Parts: sequence; structure tokens; C-alpha cells
Amino acid sequence: LFLVFEGGEGVGKTTQWHRLADTLRAVGHDVVAVREPGGTAAGDAIRSLLLDPTSELAAESEALLFAASRAQLVRDVIAPALHRGAIVLVDRFLLSTYAYQGAGRGLPMSSLQAVNAFATGGIRPDLTLLLSVPLDMAQARQQARGASDRMEQEDLAFHQRVRAAFEVALTAAWEGEHPEVGPVVAIGADMPVDVVTVRCLE
Ligand code: C5P
Ligand code: MG
Repeated sequence: LFLVFEGGEGVGKTTQWHRLADTLRAVGHDVVAVREPGGTAAGDAIRSLLLDPTSELAAESEALLFAASRAQLVRDVIAPALHRGAIVLVDRFLLSTYAYQGAGRGLPMSSLQAVNAFATGGIRPDLTLLLSVPLDMAQARQQARGASDRMEQEDLAFHQRVRAAFEVALTAAWEGEHPEVGPVVAIGADMPVDVVTVRCLE
């Protein structure tokens, strides 16, 4: 089983990804939980480069680096884990690419699809849990976290395009055009964490 957590910053993806992994392990499942970008030695090096505020990356380089991290993760971790029957939980995957590098940076969707088909080798999530919270809540959480990576330097318009792109991913027309993403379900995450965890488990 291959599950992906998606959504903008401050929606609680990482928290839910941790909790779901712990809950599933507690009842005896073999769980592999990884985050993107990262999750392998090469991927973590790529992650540092991607998040470093001093990296002056062209949008195309950024997209290819995310894809490179994903390619490594699929081959080293995700595919072997699925092969042995583990449950794989990933914090971000294809949808983030379409939202940040597509809608956010304005790169053509067809290029992102082609690069990512190459990166994933066609492996597809069984389900994507798309978490969302009201904008003010997400902003407050981000501020509390005090994060200062490259994307957080982007302006409000960038983040609005990203948010809108995640919402579009819930429409039937979008799902028809993106079979590579697999089914996407919306999880309203503006609730106590336990409630959200239960929703994710359903
Ligand atoms: O998931 P996390 O918040 O750790 O992601 C790290 C950063 O990478 C975030 O600022 C996110 O906006 C950014 N990102 C991105 N494009 C992706 C995935 C993540 O810009 N495809
Ligand atoms: Mg996170």
C-alpha cells in the first residue's frame, strides 16, 4: 500500500505522516515512512541544496533536482518496500511538483509529467491524502515554526497559485488528466491532531 500526504506548508502533513506511521506500526504493520525531497543519502544532499536560501536555482534545475531525489527514493526505498508488502507513507510526491514547480514557478505541465514519469518509472500511489487548513491557520503555524527555506521567501501570489493548484487536484476533470497521481481525497486538517489522524485512517 502506497499512501502520499500532500498539501501546502503548515497544513500538518508531517505531523499526520508521523502519527499514521506510529499507529500502523503499533498494530504490527511493516511501515516505511519517508519524506520528499530526501529519504536517501543522495536525496538528503539534494534536499539541502533545494532548501538552501543561497542556492540560485533556475526553475528548471529545481524541477530536475526534485525529480532526481524522487527517482532515487523510488528505486532505493519505495519500490523495494512495496515489493516486500510494506505500507509506504510519503510526505509529498507528484502533486507537490505540479503545485510548486508547475503552478508556482510556471513550468509547463507536460514537461513536469514527462520528467516525473521517468523519475518514478510509473509507480503510482494507491491514495493521496490532500490536507488543507484555512490560510490564516497555515500562516500562523509556519510563523510559529520560524522556517526560512527558499520557498518561504516567495511572495503571497506564489503561495496562492500553489494553494489553488492543490484544490484543482480534487476535481474530477483533473483526476482524468492525471492518472499518474492516482486517487486524491481531501482531508480538512483544521481539527485536533487526533481527529485528523482518525480521518486519515478511514
Ligand atoms: O514538506 P516540506 O515543508 O519539508 O518541504 C520543504 C520545502 O520544499 C517547502 O518549502 C516546500 O514549499 C518546498 N517544495 C517545493 N516543491 C516541491 C516540494 C516541496 O517547492 N515539489
Ligand atoms: Mg512538513
